[in-house]
Amino acid sequence: MKKILILHTGGTFGMLPMLPRQTLAPGKIAEHITAFVPELTKIADIDFEAVFNLDSADMQPHHWQTIAEYIHRRVHDYDGFVIIHGTDSMVYTAAALSFMLPNPPCPVILTGSQRPLAEIRTDARGNLVNSVELALHPIREVCIFFGTRLFRGNRAVKISSTDFTAFESPNYPHIAEVGLDIRVFGNHREPRGKFELVPGLSGEVLAFSFFPGLKPEYLDFLTKSSVKAVVIEALGMGNVSIKENSLLPFVTALTQAGKLAVITSQSRHGRVDLSCYENGLLIQNAGGVGAGDMTTETTLVKLMHLLGQYPDDLETVRERLKVPLSGEISS
Ligand code: ASP
Repeated sequence: MKKILILHTGGTFGMLPMLPRQTLAPGKIAEHITAFVPELTKIADIDFEAVFNLDSADMQPHHWQTIAEYIHRRVHDYDGFVIIHGTDSMVYTAAALSFMLPNPPCPVILTGSQRPLAEIRTDARGNLVNSVELALHPIREVCIFFGTRLFRGNRAVKISSTDFTAFESPNYPHIAEVGLDIRVFGNHREPRGKFELVPGLSGEVLAFSFFPGLKPEYLDFLTKSSVKAVVIEALGMGNVSIKENSLLPFVTALTQAGKLAVITSQSRHGRVDLSCYENGLLIQNAGGVGAGDMTTETTLVKLMHLLGQYPDDLETVRERLKVPLSGEISS
């Protein structure tokens, strides 16, 4: 039988069915899961470890690093890893793991649920069983399984706080689908280099959403702050205002202060192309960098990762931002 390690990190999955939902002590989680899904052991030889038990809104970059270290240390002992995680910040953790653990030799699948495992009408059970089944396949990348679909982790977004199909992957087709059978479509990534742990994440980043009427003077403090990269979630192809309340002076000042202004889009589907409209082009000329078809979440985590690797070399960060490291951007 193949060996799978289930790592518990928290989320609704292991919470008790009363409101407001609260996390159990980590020590109780293993018994809880074994009691509710005893048949897991018929699918694989399962080990279980509770790394921590957090609402994923409390997850910090150092928690991503702990999860990455856990997997790195145990990678040769298992055929696959399933990480139980809260849905709220799951895509950030998935993106971070995809950069911190490049070229994994086996599947690393994050999953969770909208309803606790202890509830009768729960999605937790199906999500866990299907994730373990998928972790037996040779899909060597960091993924998210939710509902019926397996996504590339750094391409996924959480689209619903209530539906059992809570995630989607707007700019990259899903990797597998579970129905009567499991269908693996073959668009997963093959390892392209050596598997390693790449630690080091910078916290010197910030993101905000542009909206009509945004007063640029509210952003002035950023130019003087220690932030090294600012992600602006712009409109459509990457547009912001350049007439009234123009953001051009802000982007120019950021660039002159030696910081990066990175443009993502509030439109989930499609990509940023700063050459398409005058508004985008002027932002680009002022130093703005388009994030292509990366999600805002992945762009932010990628910047944390790149700034962690090249803290004093913003040119390299700018260049590498546009290049796929783990399949997170279309080239
Ligand atoms: N607040 C929970 C979490 O992200 C929500 C969930 O797991 O669905 O931990």
